[in-house]
Parts: sequence; C-alpha cells; structure tokens
Amino acid sequence: MSSLKPLLMIPGPIEVSPAVRASFGAPPPGHLEPRLIEAFGVSLEGMRRVWKSSASAQPFIVPGSGTTAMEMTVANLVEPGDVVIVVNTGYFSDRMVEMLSRAGAEVVDLSVVPGDVPHVSRAEGAFDDVERSGRRVKALFATHVDTSTAARVDPQVLAALARSRECLSVFDGVCATGAERFEMEAWGADVYLTASQKALGVPPGLALLVASEAALSARDRRASPPPLAWDFHSWRPVMQAYEARKPAYFATPPTNLVLALAVSLREILEDGVEARWAAHARAARGLSAAWAVLGLSHVPARPEHRAATLSALRFPARVDASLVGRIAERGVVVAGGLDPRIRAEYFRIGHMGYAITRTDLLMRTIEAVAGGLAASGVQADAASAVRAFLESLQSAAVRGA
Ligand code: PMP
Repeated sequence: MSSLKPLLMIPGPIEVSPAVRASFGAPPPGHLEPRLIEAFGVSLEGMRRVWKSSASAQPFIVPGSGTTAMEMTVANLVEPGDVVIVVNTGYFSDRMVEMLSRAGAEVVDLSVVPGDVPHVSRAEGAFDDVERSGRRVKALFATHVDTSTAARVDPQVLAALARSRECLSVFDGVCATGAERFEMEAWGADVYLTASQKALGVPPGLALLVASEAALSARDRRASPPPLAWDFHSWRPVMQAYEARKPAYFATPPTNLVLALAVSLREILEDGVEARWAAHARAARGLSAAWAVLGLSHVPARPEHRAATLSALRFPARVDASLVGRIAERGVVVAGGLDPRIRAEYFRIGHMGYAITRTDLLMRTIEAVAGGLAASGVQADAASAVRAFLESLQSAAVRGA
C-alpha cells in the first residue's frame, strides 16, 4: 500500500486544487454576507464565460448534484404530452429518458450499443417521423459525455439540427463542462447543465446550468408551474440579485461550495477555457498512448467518440474487476464499470480538472494501472507506458497542439 494519500482518479468527484480546498475550509459565510454575495456574483459571471453563453441567457447555481440539474431542466421545459428526442449514449441518457417519461413526455429514445454514438441521421429521421404525424418535437436531449461509456456526442451538430427544426436542445455536460469544447451561444444550445464535482473541480453539492432565452420562455409559457424548488421563477430573481451584488434569498445555498466555485472558475479562466479544452485533449491522447502499451482497449471503438475526460477500458483476457482493487492497493482510486450491459467487462479512469494540470499525478495513475495489471498476471511494462505518455505530450507541445 502506498504511503501517499490515495489519489482520486474516478470520473468525479475529482482531486481539487489547493486553492479550492483552502476556500472550502473557510468559516461558512451567511448567504447575505458581502463575501458570499461577491463569490456568487463572480461565479455567475464566470459561468457565462466558461459556458460561452449569451448575455440574455441565465446561469443558475442551486444546491444539489448533476441529477438535480437534469431534473430542474426537465421540470421547467417539459409538460405532459410533449414529444422529445433523446440521443442515448448510456446510463445517464437512460436516466434522462426515465425523468422525461415521468414528466409525461412521449420519448423517442435513440439508443446504441455501449460506446457508440447514434448517427445524426437517426435524429433527423426521428424529427421527420414526428413531423409527418403532424406534431412537433419540443426538445432534443443528449449527454455530452456519458460517464458510463466515455462516449462523447457532437453537441454542435445536434444543436444545429434542433435549431433547424425549431426545437430546444439540452446537453448534460456533467462529465464535460470546462473540459470539452462547448460554445453555448455560437452553437445555439438552450440548456447546458453540470455539477460542481467534475471538471469544474469543486467538491460535490452544486447543480449548475445555463438556460437560453428560449428555454426561459418555455418555462414562462407553461400551463402549470413546476415544483417550487426547481422553478426557474423561484431562482432567477436570486441569481439576478447576486450578479448585481445584492443580497437575496429563496433557499439557503451551500455557501462554502459557492466560495470554492468562485475560486475554481477563476483558475479555469486564468488558464483560458480554450487552453483547458486543449489540455484535456492532450492528456487524454497521452493516456491513450499509455493504455495502448499496456494492451488496454477503449469501450468507444471509434477514436472520435472518445471523451477527453475519462477512459473506459476493457479488461484484458483473464483479468476481471479485481483489477480495480489492485490499482487501489497502489494508491490510485479508479472506478468499475457502470453500463449494466457490460458492467463486468471494463473499468473507468477519470482525468479531468486539477489532475490534468499535474503530469506527475497522471504518471502515478499509469504506474498504478500497470502495477495492478502485473499483479493480475498480465505482462505490463510501466516504464514503456509512461514513456509513451510523455512522448505523446512532448510531440503535442512541439506541434503546439
Ligand atoms: N450525468 C452525467 C453525464 C454524469 O456523469 C452524472 C454523474 N456521474 C450525472 C449525470 C449525475 O450527476 P450526480 O451524480 O452529481 O447527481
């Protein structure tokens, strides 16, 4: 067992930066205190920049998790009888289907085998079918990165399709926001939602989303209001007040988490959002080179479908889920499989946020995986894997990629 503190390399929660950790440990401010009001305002402004959203869009910071952000979106946008399309890439898309069904929507569920991504022509066909029947699709939903399979959709193409059909588009960015390219205004997306504990690098406890003007007016036009605690109308005046640096209250926010969010967004914006996206892509390519040396193959068969934020890797022959424990014995915590169709066949390693700014932590992860494989009786050359990783990073630096 390593004497170092275990390194948390699951796909969220993640390791947080020292400055975020320090802010989280501050004496809890009251929700009407100037330092909380300032942190809240800075966080809302920071979200607009990280999301690349328009001035007319509204960021929301509410207590909860990614699931809360999903439910809040559904509660405000979807009414019984609405037709919606889900571009389904796994476990978290399935969760969205369940929420939409419970909200009374008629769900067109476009699913695929694990690791794959539905082709955009299937979504086009689904729109055609609904429109031929004289109805219209209210909203298209997709998971930017499905954490269960590491499959990544192309939100730009899907948002453009939704716009061309005068339909809202909603993207679950829980395992992507701040790490994968997303341009809310330029692409015309209507909701981009996430949680604090993933690539934004804050402990769990905040549900975060930005809603476009069209999404806000979909709520305004509802026949009946959504549950009070999730209603855009409950929270919007509070967000507007905080952004204007005024006190406000609807329900108590987790104040330390808001302090931490302000610090984390500032760190991301100091690096630059685009630079952060590029750094995640570089780290993912480097790690992929290491996994190839170790004989590990990805669940998403096609490289263009692989997320930059995590690796979902199939167990080699004669290795099973005990590998996860063997890696933990080497001081690195990784996650088991999540997609029920292939749960016992693979494991997952998160690489987002603070960890990807630390080459040493990524090397420790590669060494622990190699050590775990060797202890499972598989040939695994840790030094060669680390070398492949470093060479990939170096060639990216030379290419300026
Ligand atoms: N969507 C995705 C893509 C996720 O990865 C997760 C969490 N792993 C969720 C939704 C749900 O988020 P939470 O666990 O914070 O409720």
